[in-house]
Amino acid sequence: MSETKSGPQPRDSVLEIKAYVPGTAREGGGKVFKLSSNESPLGSSARARQAYVAAAEHLEAYPDGGATVLRKAIGAKYGIDPARIVCGAGSDELIGLLCHTYLEPGDETLYSQYGFLMYKISTLASGGVPVVAPETDRVADVDALLACVTDRTRLVFLANPNNPTGTYLPFEEVQRLHAGLPKNVILVIDAAYAEYVRRNDYSAGIDLVANSSNVVMMRTFSKIHGLAAVRLGWAFCPEAIADILNRVRGPFNVNAPAIAAGVAAINDTAFMDTAIAHNEQWLPWLTEKLEGLGLGVTPSVGNFLLIEFPDVDGRRAADADTTLQDNGVYVRRMEAYGLPACLRITVGTEEANRLVVDVLGKLMGKG
Ligand SMILES: *Cc1c(COP(=O)(O)O)cnc(C)c1O
Repeated sequence: MSETKSGPQPRDSVLEIKAYVPGTAREGGGKVFKLSSNESPLGSSARARQAYVAAAEHLEAYPDGGATVLRKAIGAKYGIDPARIVCGAGSDELIGLLCHTYLEPGDETLYSQYGFLMYKISTLASGGVPVVAPETDRVADVDALLACVTDRTRLVFLANPNNPTGTYLPFEEVQRLHAGLPKNVILVIDAAYAEYVRRNDYSAGIDLVANSSNVVMMRTFSKIHGLAAVRLGWAFCPEAIADILNRVRGPFNVNAPAIAAGVAAINDTAFMDTAIAHNEQWLPWLTEKLEGLGLGVTPSVGNFLLIEFPDVDGRRAADADTTLQDNGVYVRRMEAYGLPACLRITVGTEEANRLVVDVLGKLMGKG
């Protein structure tokens, strides 16, 4: 890539990576609402915070490298074998581990057009080649994905529901995708927003993992549990894949306070129910209000909305972002996904949601 190769050089594909830009929230006076990273508007479980603080009494000790109590708690909650659960410092780490482990240079990963950005970044970091299948109406298209499978395909990433679109595939479609894949290809179902979905035809995919040798389902504590700061995620895997991930992961990749907080969070059903009920109330409210302003709103089953401004050049989305920031609201710009006319807005507190509608209403001449 560079003309002089005298200094240290990474693998070529790494130079194609544009660093992930996290959602912003500037410091400053006044009240600020961070609706840019799909974080929980309700904070986290008080029990999880107490467990985290209690774990701080023993920072001198290495954590349990197997995160045993956490895997047991997850296993009990979902009725799955803890031996087939691998925990990570966020599901981002698990995405990276899968790429590092299953890709030889030149091997391909496959995901859909508006699929989560980390799939591309982790693929390139591992010397792999990202392949992108077109979507139909901002929904992953199983036929388009299957048409892109080659003999170099090793991993297919499906965020279900997907971020940033908020759309999902019914379980029958996920099964059809799996059935069409060669046995040496791993289907990775990233179900980061599974708890929010209120649809009878949805499944996070636990049964598919249980009954096949090439499906992995990933979950995170960053969204419904409100524990994004502690970095905690997990994967339910076929035995052989769990064995491989356990060989390559850092021996202490999940820290002790995170393990303690995770156990408390997964057992705090009341907190989860409150978070689900909040989203069930405000997601449809925001959808209706924003559509009423003349904005394009992609139907979402997650805790966020992708909205599109009528102007084609995208100027209006950028202006709206600035205006929202002036009012203390931080949302996510979508240029990195090739959607410059769009913004992604996390469902916030009642106060934040009303403010968003208010500010955008004025901007659209309907306030
Ligand atoms: C937020 C999110 C994650 C979670 O990442 P963590 O590293 O666990 O915080 C994973 N996948 C998608 C699609 C997400 O939006």
